[in-house]
Amino acid sequence: MHTPIQMVDLKRQYQKIKTEIDEAISEVLEHCTFIQGPQVKRFADNLQHYLQVKHVIPCANGTDALQIALMALELQPGDEVITPSFTYIATAEVIALLKAKPVFVDVDPHTFCLDLEAVSQAITPRTRAIVPVHLFGQSVDMQPLLALAEAHQLPVIEDNAQAIGCTYRFADGSAKKTGTMGLIGCTSFFPSKNLGAYGDGGAICTDDDALAEKMRMIANHGQSKRYYHDLVGCNSRLDSIQAAILDVKLRYLDQYIAARQQAANRYDAGFADIPAITVPYRAPYCSHVFHQYTILVPPEQRDALQQYLSQQGIPTMIYYPVPCHQQKMFSSLPYIAHSLKTTEWLSARVLSLPMHTELDEAQQDFIIEHIRRFFTKAYPQQP
Ligand SMILES: *Cc1c(COP(=O)(O)O)cnc(C)c1O
Repeated sequence: MHTPIQMVDLKRQYQKIKTEIDEAISEVLEHCTFIQGPQVKRFADNLQHYLQVKHVIPCANGTDALQIALMALELQPGDEVITPSFTYIATAEVIALLKAKPVFVDVDPHTFCLDLEAVSQAITPRTRAIVPVHLFGQSVDMQPLLALAEAHQLPVIEDNAQAIGCTYRFADGSAKKTGTMGLIGCTSFFPSKNLGAYGDGGAICTDDDALAEKMRMIANHGQSKRYYHDLVGCNSRLDSIQAAILDVKLRYLDQYIAARQQAANRYDAGFADIPAITVPYRAPYCSHVFHQYTILVPPEQRDALQQYLSQQGIPTMIYYPVPCHQQKMFSSLPYIAHSLKTTEWLSARVLSLPMHTELDEAQQDFIIEHIRRFFTKAYPQQP
């Protein structure tokens, strides 16, 4: 019999690295430097090295990372920011919070990421930035997007909350990590993310020295030196305990990604001969770090499948049931009917299966077996 299945199993992951984590936390407790302790700088340096980027600015969470990046661009009310509607709400929310206007564009049905043609059509004289989202652990096709942005002199702010560790390959053979290709990259260390803290956390990356300095100030009350405040900023810090934990987990990130990829391969093989299921597309230009393993199923069967799996003790999630443009908070934003067709089509079909670093073969076989059963013999002859 297999151990209980969760969408994300943080407990079993912790148990394996408990000694290192507990030591890292005690070190902070010994010194009581809870804010701006040496652990924060150490983690930022190590992450900078891992990502091969010039500056890493830790902050309180991924939403703040996006907000600080957009504050640094000095958006004016009414400025337009192009972003997908098929994303977590935070991406679009910070744009509206700063009184700019999110311009939602459609995604590609295979990658679930920004559709280049749609971005191109959405650019107007009021456009001030493009915010692509590396959804579910796979990179946006960045090379053509960066070329388009450059042609229009638009900064690209990458939402890398779900894809830390993903590598993008350019046509010339060079490679870069997601979050380091645009002007600014933003990531989240929410516990269930691929590099997760034991609380909230986030970071901002850039190769631009002046922008890095500005964002560091914004994240710390616009302060240039202690008690001298040059800009209106906010209070957004990664605390020392979270940094210490993240520094331990960063050492395991590539191993964790490999475990996710292995689980994804096992799912792929298990579903290969079920025509009703579309397994995640693997783009040729990047690795996939499988923050989520998201399949597409016929919309009329999705609820029944989810319910059937739940009865077997198999949790699943729908990311995202309501795209941003259909959220109440954006009900006053005009958008062109049918311009987000793929987004709406995906919302009706996506189903994310349990995916984490501790998923074992017995659990996966159980999940695969029940999904197979649903689409073949046992279902729909249920009692
Ligand atoms: C998680 C997430 C965020 C926000 O990160 P928090 O740390 O929860 O604030 C932003 N964008 C995307 C795509 C995310 O998945």
